[in-house]
Amino acid sequence: MTVKQIVVLGGGVGGTLVANLLAGQLTRKQAQITLIDRIGKHVYQPGWLYVPFGGPPPERWERSERSLLRRSVDLIIGDAVRIDPHERYVEMADGTQIPFDYLVIATGARLEPSAVPGYGEGAYHFYSAEAALRLHAALREFSGGRIVIGVADIPYKCPPAPLEFTFLLEDELRKRGLREKTEITYLSPIGRVFTIESVSQFVTPLMEERGIQYELFFNTEQIDPVNRTISSLEGTTIPYDLLVLVPPHRGATIISESGLGDAQGWLPTDRETLQHKQFPYIYGVGDATDLPVSKSGAAAHFEAKVIAHRIAGEIKGKPSEERYQGQVMCFLETGYGQATQLVFDYTHPPHPPKPSAYYHYEKALLNRAYWHLIPTGIV
Ligand SMILES: Cc1cc2nc3c(=O)[nH]c(=O)nc-3n(C[C@H](O)[C@H](O)[C@H](O)COP(=O)(O)OP(=O)(O)OC[C@H]3O[C@@H](n4cnc5c(N)ncnc54)[C@H](O)[C@@H]3O)c2cc1C
Repeated sequence: MTVKQIVVLGGGVGGTLVANLLAGQLTRKQAQITLIDRIGKHVYQPGWLYVPFGGPPPERWERSERSLLRRSVDLIIGDAVRIDPHERYVEMADGTQIPFDYLVIATGARLEPSAVPGYGEGAYHFYSAEAALRLHAALREFSGGRIVIGVADIPYKCPPAPLEFTFLLEDELRKRGLREKTEITYLSPIGRVFTIESVSQFVTPLMEERGIQYELFFNTEQIDPVNRTISSLEGTTIPYDLLVLVPPHRGATIISESGLGDAQGWLPTDRETLQHKQFPYIYGVGDATDLPVSKSGAAAHFEAKVIAHRIAGEIKGKPSEERYQGQVMCFLETGYGQATQLVFDYTHPPHPPKPSAYYHYEKALLNRAYWHLIPTGIV
């Protein structure tokens, strides 16, 4: 039996878990598993939500990728620039070609703030370590006025995150004695405050109770940083003193440049087998895909298990029938030391329980235990 070459491109939650699970299911005689990551650093992005409020600094949410990988997984640190899906190799920036029998694309999502005119000078966000620190500094200086929070367009990762930010902010301003002096407005690009209807029905009354205003059908067209206004394609203009806008997301450039993606660079992925729609030996996991499910670490976690079983099964000559059913499980902070939980899949929408301290502590526990439980595949 020849040793199969499995290449995993991307060392985030999806890629790291797939690589570790495969290493647990296949011997070195069956497969050589190589993970390629640009920075060799694994980042737990949910930690960034707390940075603007003075939570642990971004370094606390990072670990070296090597420290999270099983010993039998080879790690290449470098930028992959092209995939040849026919000749089956990944080309690195230095010209090296890494051949594969199976490729798992786990390149995540890319932020593209420049897609919104005026974004650079006019808006803050918390979707990168640097941006979360900048927002922290801006919030420290804030002494009252109009805060506008929103998402520039859809899809974006962790759909609940901007709502969580809004609830945490409202709570923070109250504690600092600034709530009475601050108007908070939430912008949503669709006809309700959240994409999933049951979650929208759950959070809308909470926002109303706390005096958080919302503007629906607001698809950002541009920001005017001089006059401090944000305008929508629908023709609405809203003034702000502080604007927090989740920037547009796109797929990794390597996907488009290799002719493997759709117009925005998302990988066309079968919603159950997680195989690329044109190349069955290429799989997609996590934010890189065009799956009709939240771009979230939770989804990547469930998907990784299916991909590992399917590839390992094929190599062992016992094909696996495992399929991804759209499972996601995540928490939504609602402020005041409370949170709720969202559990759903392709056919069952979430029914969030009443916010409680219990779910807030569950989320805090997961944030701490993540390193031991998730990339390792223990849960
Ligand atoms: C503020 C915030 C809060 C969040 N909260 C939650 C939450 O509570 N629950 C939840 O489930 N999810 C949450 N998420 C979303 C979650 O972090 C992402 O969905 C998850 O990280 C996606 O995992 P991934 O493996 O697909 O991609 P990523 O984790 O983004 O990893 C992609 C990796 O690919 C590498 N890469 C990309 N291109 C190349 C290339 N060309 N060559 C080499 N390497 C490359 C990158 O360096 C990176 O390491 C949150 C996200 C944010 C920003």
